[in-house]
Amino acid sequence: MTRTQCAALAVMFLTCVPTLGADLTVRIDARDVIRRHLQTRETLAVKPGPLVLVYPKWIPAEHAPAGPLDSIIGLEIKANGQRLEWKRDPYEMYAISITVPAGATQLDITLDTGMPADGGGFSSSPGSSARLAIIRWNEFVLLPKGRDAATIPAVGSVAIPAGWTATCSLETHAGEGGALEFEPVSLAQLIDSPVQMGEFVRHVDLPGSAPHADIHHMISIAADTAVATEVPADFAQGYGNLVAEAGVVFASRHYRHYTWLLSLSDHIEAFGEEHHESSDDRVPETVLKEADTRKSVAGLLGHEYVHSWNGKFRRPQGLLSPDYLEPMDGSLLWIYEGMTQFWGDVLPTRAGLIKPEDYRELIAVSAGHFDISTGPHWRPLADTAVQAQVLYDSPRAWSSARRSVDFYDASVFLWLDVDAQLRAHSDGKATLDDFTHRFYSGSDGKPEVKPYVENDLYTTLASIAPADWRGIIRKHLDVPDTKALLEGLKHTGWQLSYSAEKNSEVEISQKIRKSTRLEWSIGFNLDEKGVLTDVIEGRAAALGGAGPGMTLVAVNGKKFTPEILEAAIVAAQSTHKPVELLVENDDYYRTLSVAYFDGPRFPHLTRIEGTPDTLSDVLRSHARP
Ligand SMILES: [Zn+2]
Repeated sequence: MTRTQCAALAVMFLTCVPTLGADLTVRIDARDVIRRHLQTRETLAVKPGPLVLVYPKWIPAEHAPAGPLDSIIGLEIKANGQRLEWKRDPYEMYAISITVPAGATQLDITLDTGMPADGGGFSSSPGSSARLAIIRWNEFVLLPKGRDAATIPAVGSVAIPAGWTATCSLETHAGEGGALEFEPVSLAQLIDSPVQMGEFVRHVDLPGSAPHADIHHMISIAADTAVATEVPADFAQGYGNLVAEAGVVFASRHYRHYTWLLSLSDHIEAFGEEHHESSDDRVPETVLKEADTRKSVAGLLGHEYVHSWNGKFRRPQGLLSPDYLEPMDGSLLWIYEGMTQFWGDVLPTRAGLIKPEDYRELIAVSAGHFDISTGPHWRPLADTAVQAQVLYDSPRAWSSARRSVDFYDASVFLWLDVDAQLRAHSDGKATLDDFTHRFYSGSDGKPEVKPYVENDLYTTLASIAPADWRGIIRKHLDVPDTKALLEGLKHTGWQLSYSAEKNSEVEISQKIRKSTRLEWSIGFNLDEKGVLTDVIEGRAAALGGAGPGMTLVAVNGKKFTPEILEAAIVAAQSTHKPVELLVENDDYYRTLSVAYFDGPRFPHLTRIEGTPDTLSDVLRSHARP
């Protein structure tokens, strides 16, 4: 079988037989995955003496010590048939010590995994439903402390439920007992190659493009229902255009083939994670059904695809953790995630998957959010990258005041500014495309990592157009205000403005997440249950006594719905009477009087006439002139 067609067989699970040439074998029995229980047999080549084993803690792409330690529900380590005692490091929960007995050359490890049923984020969130699952190898292995996983030869296999289909970027063949055995690779590459499996799976092959038009690109769609995997007739061509646009910008492909593992379920956490030759993309079940929600998928698939170059091939030195125990330094995430966020939406726009007017609405939401938030006035953008490992899990309450993982969305304006400045410093000859081409090209083909430090960025920019690039960029990162961000936007020929007209991106997000964003008018956002998820300090609702965590029960005496609240905001414009909000706060009811009379208010971009419109040039197709 190939990596594109691995139908499940009814199997007897494997006995623990080491594979020739592999220092580590990991054989996962996932046939009981709908009960969220998996059992793994691992063999590890060892020498006699003391040994520290590590359960992967710092997970690439998560930029945090997020290995799901809680998922271990059973562990047995044997050598020469004898069970060994193990002891956890009291200061490092992910490390356990053992002593390998004399004469032993291999450990036989049995690991039971209980996948989460609710809660958590990323690795710690549910990764399976009754009809699909995603297997991430890092959750099923122990490796020696201090050993670079890229130097450990490994072989993995998975036994999957009968009738299910598995998809992975690694080549596959039938192994012992009918389980799927994957090609021998390093442990690092194995961990970089998640397996998607499910009952309802559709493979969509995409047209290839230069460079290397022969390289195979595919979207593997697994969903909780067969109907959710259906896509419109132009779906493959649209994403083929994305492949073409990426080929023009990066002028290289650092993968042998590329597969988006797109999983649609309301029972798994929605997020994306990048890998060299694939990405693990998780979204709600019905997002492919309608054109407007499909746009949000384009942004996700674009983002994770760009990571194959920016994040996987080129990675900040500080984000390497060879044994997954060494801590990561997130200081340069404004490049790793920030530039990915930039290209992740720009390339789908160039490909026609997102319309330019929708792209402008998208970044207007970010610009508007930073414009009214108080967080950017006490805390510089750079600090959000340094504290990323904590901010990913920070609560929604007070996020506008605390700041969140802003190095994604705020950095988009940094990179738009760099693009505009490259044009200005080169008489219009150079753009961010030239930088990207130069910084991310290299040997094509199989995955490799080429680390960089911050200065490498400035050196490359200076080789394209001389300027104080450190000064231009650090102004966005180090000064605690939004001046550089809003000025950077203006350098593209567009500026932030507000009107009563709804922002289309806010409407889509409302449709998918069932949330209501009124932060620019009355000054808070609500979830589907009417809970105030965040309140903007200094705005009308906060001044009227509203705080995050309160539940909105009624508006002007009438039971709350988003529509009732929106109508009350419109009415207050002419009545000039404060909006009365009945809120429940920890079992106590209270009526707040909110003096807000300026009506609906949403962010948009408007053109600055008489200035060059570089944003439109950024967004035009470069592969299909
Ligand atoms: Zn990312």
